[in-house]
Amino acid sequence: MKKEVKKRSFETFWLDTTLMLLATLMLLIINVVARPSKDDFKNVPSAFTLLQNKNQKDDIYINLLRKNKNRIEKILLEEYVIGVVAAEMPAEFNLETLKAQAVASRTYAARKIMSKAFHKGYEEKKVYLCDDFSHCQAYIDRDEMRKKWGKNFEKYYSKICKAVKQTKGEVLVYKGQIIDSLYHAASGGKTEDAKEVFKEEIPYLKSVVSRGEESCPKFSGEFYFTYDELIKRLKTCFPGLRIDSSNISSQIKVVERTKAGRVKSVKVGNTILSGNQFRNIFGLYSTEFWIYPDKRGVRIHTRGYGHGLGMSQWGANYLARQGKDYKQILLYYYQDVKICRLKYR
Ligand SMILES: [Zn+2]
Repeated sequence: MKKEVKKRSFETFWLDTTLMLLATLMLLIINVVARPSKDDFKNVPSAFTLLQNKNQKDDIYINLLRKNKNRIEKILLEEYVIGVVAAEMPAEFNLETLKAQAVASRTYAARKIMSKAFHKGYEEKKVYLCDDFSHCQAYIDRDEMRKKWGKNFEKYYSKICKAVKQTKGEVLVYKGQIIDSLYHAASGGKTEDAKEVFKEEIPYLKSVVSRGEESCPKFSGEFYFTYDELIKRLKTCFPGLRIDSSNISSQIKVVERTKAGRVKSVKVGNTILSGNQFRNIFGLYSTEFWIYPDKRGVRIHTRGYGHGLGMSQWGANYLARQGKDYKQILLYYYQDVKICRLKYR
């Protein structure tokens, strides 16, 4: 065979060289951002092999407990992620934010399945997840999406499908383990360090600045409780609570705050509660709160919405509007993680 020798012009040579340099640069960037190593996959594929339905070569199915519907549904993991993104995040958000949410939600599910953390009472039915936002992740099916979005159903549904498809199988991994991909609506300016909440270091859940969350509907809150109501509520959880009724206002104090500004502990009379216990008892939007006692009761001002750990959804949307893509968003809120793809085979 005759070898064809191309005569290349000077311009073509430079064009080729520039393109090659650009491609090398791109590869370098991709590698730096999220190239998983062998170690990252150490536990991932084997765990997911167990989940695969042999008849459905490409798919992973999960059993989902629909709490309100009182039934268990067997659905594809990717279908589940669509329903979670639809329930957990406003569909109006930027596509890159929806993609970040899809990866975080898939990661959350994958971790539950891998650690074999079955729902109490549902071990035999192999239910790992329910659709209750306060326990696992919220989830809605297509009928519920229709009700939620009305005439925008087609538009939003296809947008969310796109976000899930473009991140198919992607999960967040830290040192070979699928991470605990916690997320919340708005941090109030700074996400929380996991060590402050769980008392143990979680290397990928560090406090970071989170801007642009102010448009979150519950970003700031005002609550008021009379002393009667306050003590009644506290006593249902802390029956041993004693407080001098002649001078209540001076006996309610925030004792300690985290570096990010959330309440670590509150003292009421003779009792010390964690910021979280106090938040739950009074249904506050977050543990970043300030207590202002007056003659009749206490006014409580809150900032942020949710526990403040991991990704802030409103902060993520702000980053997307600044031009960041979903990988940059995820790597900002979850430090030193890698984005790996589950093997669907
Ligand atoms: Zn659950």
